[in-house]
Amino acid sequence: MTFAELANQGILTQPLYEPGKPIDQVARELGLDPAGIIKLASNENPFGPSPKAVAAAERALREANLYPDGGYYALRQKLAAKWNLGMDQFIIGDGSNELIELLGHAFLAPGVECVMPRSSFMVYKLVTLMFGATPVEVPLVDMRQDLKLLVAAVTPRTRLVFLASPANPIGATNSAEEISELVRSLPPHVILVFDEAYAEFLDPAPDLRPLIAEGRKVICLRTFSKIYGLAALRVGYGYAAPELIAIVQRARQPFNVNGIAVAAAIAALDDHEFVEKYRRENAAGRTLLADGFRRLGLAFVPGGGNFLLVKVGDGARVFGALQQRGVITRPVNPYGLPEWLRITVGTRAQNERLLAALAEILPT
Ligand SMILES: *Cc1c(COP(=O)(O)O)cnc(C)c1O
Repeated sequence: MTFAELANQGILTQPLYEPGKPIDQVARELGLDPAGIIKLASNENPFGPSPKAVAAAERALREANLYPDGGYYALRQKLAAKWNLGMDQFIIGDGSNELIELLGHAFLAPGVECVMPRSSFMVYKLVTLMFGATPVEVPLVDMRQDLKLLVAAVTPRTRLVFLASPANPIGATNSAEEISELVRSLPPHVILVFDEAYAEFLDPAPDLRPLIAEGRKVICLRTFSKIYGLAALRVGYGYAAPELIAIVQRARQPFNVNGIAVAAAIAALDDHEFVEKYRRENAAGRTLLADGFRRLGLAFVPGGGNFLLVKVGDGARVFGALQQRGVITRPVNPYGLPEWLRITVGTRAQNERLLAALAEILPT
């Protein structure tokens, strides 16, 4: 018998996630010096991690012989104080990606449907398929997520609705009113998974806590990978009604997040100066990129996160040409957007380099 015959049949057709290309890989493939390459492909913080988080991680490393607190008491306590919610309303994940998978363990099975906008973050669809459930993708309208169409796609078989705002990769943002109306329109057999990976870049971000308090079925997901600059450490969290959190906790492994990452996350929550500086720099950088795209005659989606989706014509060609010039961006053909590239807002120097490279590549 072959391994393929022994495997669960679903795993053989499970699609793979294509991450942004690491700098070292591009350097190897193209024979470039890694020091000269910039990565604007994965919405990472271009200013590095918070120094306070790094110091906390270094201290925690000296206790690496001990298991972490499997209940993550200190981090949940800190989050409860930050959000003015109960500690029992938080779950900590190995990145918010893991929380999406844990929701799959808790709520998905063959015969169940998950509704999501087309060109959503790929992990929603991957997790849906992993559990044998059916993804139902709702078309975008003018590169925006139409939440009324999401509600219209709900059937008696729907269990989860996935929504991110700002959305990744498209970047578009839905208003607090639209999101609140969505939550109030969903029937009681449906849970909204509201992915707030980029919420910290909004000012203000929609606040779904009142909806949770009034018993609406929502779980909000946040991450330390974006504004906090800790993508390599893999920490995220979810908050929701205690009854929902208790169910998802059952799917979690006892020590799912490592103690060094948790120590860094706790310290990062206190580094307000670092977060504020990045928020400001990101807004300025996004404006600089937007102005640059306009000068080049390129359409783009006005995004609320730390990246922009820009229409370059032949996405694969422009991606390759940028890469030749040492600038890694993200092709979005796997999201059905072959004419577009997703570009992370970098430092000022990185943004200028990207725009200069685009000007060289694109026909004038
Ligand atoms: C980056 C991102 C995440 C966060 O992933 P982590 O696993 O926490 O690193 C989640 N959702 C979206 C839409 C993202 O872009």
